[in-house]
Amino acid sequence: MIQFLDLKKINLRHEKAIQDSVTGVLHSGWYILGEQVKSFEAEFADYCGTRYCLGVANGLDALELIIHAYGIGPGDEVIVPSNTYIASILSISANGATPVLVEPDPQTYNIDPAKIEEKITANTKAIMVVHLYGQSCNMAPIRELADKHNLKVIEDCAQSHGAIYEGKRAGNLGDAAAFSFYPGKNLGALGDAGAITTNDEELYTKLYALRNYGSHKKYENLYKGYNSRLDEFQAPILKEKLKYLDADNAYRREIADYYLEHIQNPLITLPVVENAPESHVWHVFVIQVEDRAAFMQYMTENQVQTIIHYPIPPHHQQAYAEWKDQSYPISENIHNHVVSIPISPVMPKEEVMKVVEVINEYGKN
Ligand SMILES: *Cc1c(COP(=O)(O)O)cnc(C)c1O
Repeated sequence: MIQFLDLKKINLRHEKAIQDSVTGVLHSGWYILGEQVKSFEAEFADYCGTRYCLGVANGLDALELIIHAYGIGPGDEVIVPSNTYIASILSISANGATPVLVEPDPQTYNIDPAKIEEKITANTKAIMVVHLYGQSCNMAPIRELADKHNLKVIEDCAQSHGAIYEGKRAGNLGDAAAFSFYPGKNLGALGDAGAITTNDEELYTKLYALRNYGSHKKYENLYKGYNSRLDEFQAPILKEKLKYLDADNAYRREIADYYLEHIQNPLITLPVVENAPESHVWHVFVIQVEDRAAFMQYMTENQVQTIIHYPIPPHHQQAYAEWKDQSYPISENIHNHVVSIPISPVMPKEEVMKVVEVINEYGKN
């Protein structure tokens, strides 16, 4: 079976370095917010090109903390794409604010800038962009709208580590950005982990306290804070893997280019790259097919694992039953037809070629 993502193989490339870093933390005697977290933060800020980075417990917390720090809460609205992973939306709800869903561009799957302005009201406080599947959103028109209406731009970078849009990295394209280092992401830890990047000193200072019980100084609490800290053991592992992120993304791009060039089947719709090649880091390679169930069964029979990102649109989730009568036809269509095929920094070329062969034979009996 060609695996969708071989996480063990990805991490075993770094076996020695990971073992050494665990030993290092063990012997340091300091296990929460120590030197390792601090130096990862410095390196990741440097990588993203931002002034600040803060390590937090996971990607959802990163988003939730940013919204909290901006003082966005009950009565406020945050614009968010209707086809994103549920965590983007949960982070808004968790703050008591109202998520306002905007449909994506059906070509890129990213929020459609032309559909944002009609959803802006006097209560709108921010636009949350999600660089979905690894492709940077079309930020120029979004930035323009945010400036015009005095809104914050919050990036959900959970799938876009390293993407470059017009010379700047994801994480440095808005006012604040949230990263997830969940194991399967392009930069993945060996457990839960996340980070926030920003150039906003005031926001950084507030978040610095918020992630640690609202405390900037031991036993003094400025805010009703959280406990959401990047684990000291994960930090050196992330530092090690960060060294290989650009090369890993380049290899993902090579696979994607091969797929884009060689998959030729009228039953398959291929993804579209809107901007320069480096604007996409191919967290997943998502195609569309009319009869998805039949296609996935065919792929399994031919020893290729596929996954759906994501099978149910957020407005049809039980958790958001209040939205069940709302209609987002572009999202619904996407959720009904998308399927992700294998891509990863450790996928052998022969497997890539095999996937193409299998897909090109689909529907030909
Ligand atoms: C993974 C993901 C998150 C959540 O990150 P966690 O670290 O799992 O909390 C948020 N948004 C998107 C788009 C994601 O893919």
